[in-house]
Amino acid sequence: MDVLLQAPAQQIALVIARIYNRGLTTTSGGNISVIDEEKNIWITPSGIDKGSLTEKDIVCINADGSVKGNHKPSSEFPFHKAIYETRKDIKAIIHAHPPALVSYSIVRKVPETNIISQARQVCGHIGYAKYELPGSEALGAKIASEFKKGFSAVIMENHGTVVGGTDLSDCFERFETLEFCARTGIYGSQLGPLNLLSDAAINEFNLQLPNNLPEQDKVTYTSDEKGIRHDICSIVNRACQHGLMISSYGTVSARWRKNDFLITPTGISRWDLQPKDIVQIKGGKREPGKHPSRTAYIHQQIYNMHPKIDSIILTQSPYLMAFAATGKNIDVRTIPESWIFLKDIHQLDFGVQYKTSSEIPKRVSAEKPAVLVKNECVVVTGGSLLQTFDYLEVAEFSARSLVMSSSIGKLFPISDEQTEELRKAFIKA
Ligand SMILES: [Zn+2]
Repeated sequence: MDVLLQAPAQQIALVIARIYNRGLTTTSGGNISVIDEEKNIWITPSGIDKGSLTEKDIVCINADGSVKGNHKPSSEFPFHKAIYETRKDIKAIIHAHPPALVSYSIVRKVPETNIISQARQVCGHIGYAKYELPGSEALGAKIASEFKKGFSAVIMENHGTVVGGTDLSDCFERFETLEFCARTGIYGSQLGPLNLLSDAAINEFNLQLPNNLPEQDKVTYTSDEKGIRHDICSIVNRACQHGLMISSYGTVSARWRKNDFLITPTGISRWDLQPKDIVQIKGGKREPGKHPSRTAYIHQQIYNMHPKIDSIILTQSPYLMAFAATGKNIDVRTIPESWIFLKDIHQLDFGVQYKTSSEIPKRVSAEKPAVLVKNECVVVTGGSLLQTFDYLEVAEFSARSLVMSSSIGKLFPISDEQTEELRKAFIKA
């Protein structure tokens, strides 16, 4: 999505498809709007299938109140209008009924966003609007008054959520991150109490991130280098589609030659990543004018230390993060596949991701490819991008089975004798 050059109708059609395909809205529920420079509001139509919406279906309500388009505007237009009138910095709005956020709305709570450092930064504190009749001016007034207090994300009592942004990309990132917090919070609470980060710890995190790497003088783009750019983008896209990565967080890298590598950039939505955005790191220096992920130094250390590791994924997936947010031990002796691939997932303390620590590079290996960092992320390594992605999927599936099984019975892990038997049969000495 290009929020500068793409027309609002195109942007809205793209985002509604993402939201629908990720299972964050039903065919009938939810609406999206964008306000342009001339104060025209572009909004999804009323009663049209969200699964097949195109830009021709988007309706425009001009600043003078006249309506242009092939359909009736969304019945929730009044609250979109009320938010734009209250907050001039907001240029895009998403309203939907995603299941985890609706869970919070029907028990009348707001999700914790300080379970993960960047989530608090992306979502801020969350507002809460009391129930009113859908489509009514009263609902608009309740929601607008929450936005007036400075909230950019609001839980609507017994209804859903409404999120604003400086553009539709910013808005989608906040919406997706908030639903992610809600899922992680719900799955985590099945394991035990959530550990919350203090505002001081979140601020500290930003101060501890390193300055940018020095720039290369002259860059060489070889054929294999260009191939790796495409491979990284397709893995990132697959991770987003499968709920293993969200817009606001996630880094993928792959070894190029010796200890040089290619890595995803910082500050670009993971959903919109293009091969030209990928950053080449050669001799510890970055491609001029580009900004690699802020964790590039961890990737560099891992490649230096582990010649057999050729690819790394740092991400947040909801079931693994449920363990990382509660600090509960994740036992992957669930099924043979999980144990053979992962052996053990160590859980490291928040703070090991800082530049002064080399704990993450020391803890990963070809034998034990994944570690969790409390309230931060999962780090998965592998011999190729596809293998690393597979290990990530296996780890997330294992975490999911553990969370789901917690309400039906106690875990019986594979025994020591059985793991020994697996080692002999499947793992080369
Ligand atoms: Zn609604």
